[in-house]
Amino acid sequence: MRYRVTLIPGDGIGPEVTNAARQVAEATGIAIDWEVVEAGEKAIQAQGTPLPDSVLESVRRNRLALKGPITTPIGSGFRSVNVALRQQLDLYASVRPARAIAGEGTRFPETDLVVVREATEGLYSGVEHWVDRDHSAAETVNIITRKASDRIIRFAFELARREKRKRVTAVHKANVMKTTGALFQTAFREMAAQYPDIPSDERLIDNMCMQLAKKPEEYDVIVTTNLFGDILSDLCAGLAGGLGVAPGALYGHELAVFEPVHGSAPKYAGLDKADPVAEILCLEMLLRHVGEVEAADRVFRAVWETIAEKKVVTYDLALPGYTLTPVPPSTCSAMAKEIARKVPLVDPHVALPRPKGTGHIDPHLEA
Ligand code: NAD
Repeated sequence: MRYRVTLIPGDGIGPEVTNAARQVAEATGIAIDWEVVEAGEKAIQAQGTPLPDSVLESVRRNRLALKGPITTPIGSGFRSVNVALRQQLDLYASVRPARAIAGEGTRFPETDLVVVREATEGLYSGVEHWVDRDHSAAETVNIITRKASDRIIRFAFELARREKRKRVTAVHKANVMKTTGALFQTAFREMAAQYPDIPSDERLIDNMCMQLAKKPEEYDVIVTTNLFGDILSDLCAGLAGGLGVAPGALYGHELAVFEPVHGSAPKYAGLDKADPVAEILCLEMLLRHVGEVEAADRVFRAVWETIAEKKVVTYDLALPGYTLTPVPPSTCSAMAKEIARKVPLVDPHVALPRPKGTGHIDPHLEA
């Protein structure tokens, strides 16, 4: 089986980390033909637009894309390429797994959850305006529809079933947002009744943040609206080990675009310093999506073992905070080479050791 995948290297550290992912893809032995297309700064220079139609056509044709981060130019008049891509391709589900890897870089080594965020409406619908001429008051309209709520909630339950996850938790603020919040809540309750085999519950957004900061290991699949999902997925990326190791995916109707949570980190561009793990784990998600489960397991295990060994890791994984004993940092390309070297050597059938948690900080604060 050969796969044709659109590759968008992106800006800043994008070309370095997508090269790293390509190198690891090659090590899996899975045949992938990469269709490389430019979006972002290079596309502005060459074609006068950061998101040429040819990029959208390539993703629609191949239905699969691996994407590096793209800089949003400030003050140039161009809107975010990332937001435009989501809207144009109707990539409605943003999925961000937060898995602590090898128990490193986190106070919560048992964290293994996934945030499913509605990515097309809510407070990011773009309906906002100044109320008066003096710009002393403003409104942003929070659009929540039953159609988009049903679609994302069904997606979350199907993901839970497919990945054999334990529970789906809806996050909203229905006690204060009596229409939009209540609509999402009702949609969730009615959809949950269609999945009686999957336990489900609800949290208010504020309580969810507190719960996650104390005991993220108790959560599994979280489904929520656009703004809450944006914030929770960054919070969870931090809980699980930081931006350098946080992958993500965007799904639409028969389309999937895999991109890391992090941005283009312009200050590290071209320095061969950036952590390639997030982009490599995007490749892992892509392989899993197309059913290449063993190759995906090999990639995850190779990443896990490289981080656990702490011999060839980039600066962010070599510092105190990630590791108790600092180690000399390696380059992005050296870490990618090490992960690629391990891919054919690891045994994906042996269960990964489950790091033990440090326990709750203060049992009196349990809510
Ligand atoms: P950023 O994620 O690019 O960088 C923030 C900091 O995180 C960096 O300075 C660096 O210290 C660290 N970091 C990020 N990725 C890392 C990696 N792989 N390895 C090691 N350290 C890493 O966020 P920002 O500075 O707010 O944004 C920079 C640009 O990226 C902006 O133009 C923004 O619009 C864009 N952006 C794009 C996407 C996307 O393409 N999906 C996402 C977020 C931000």
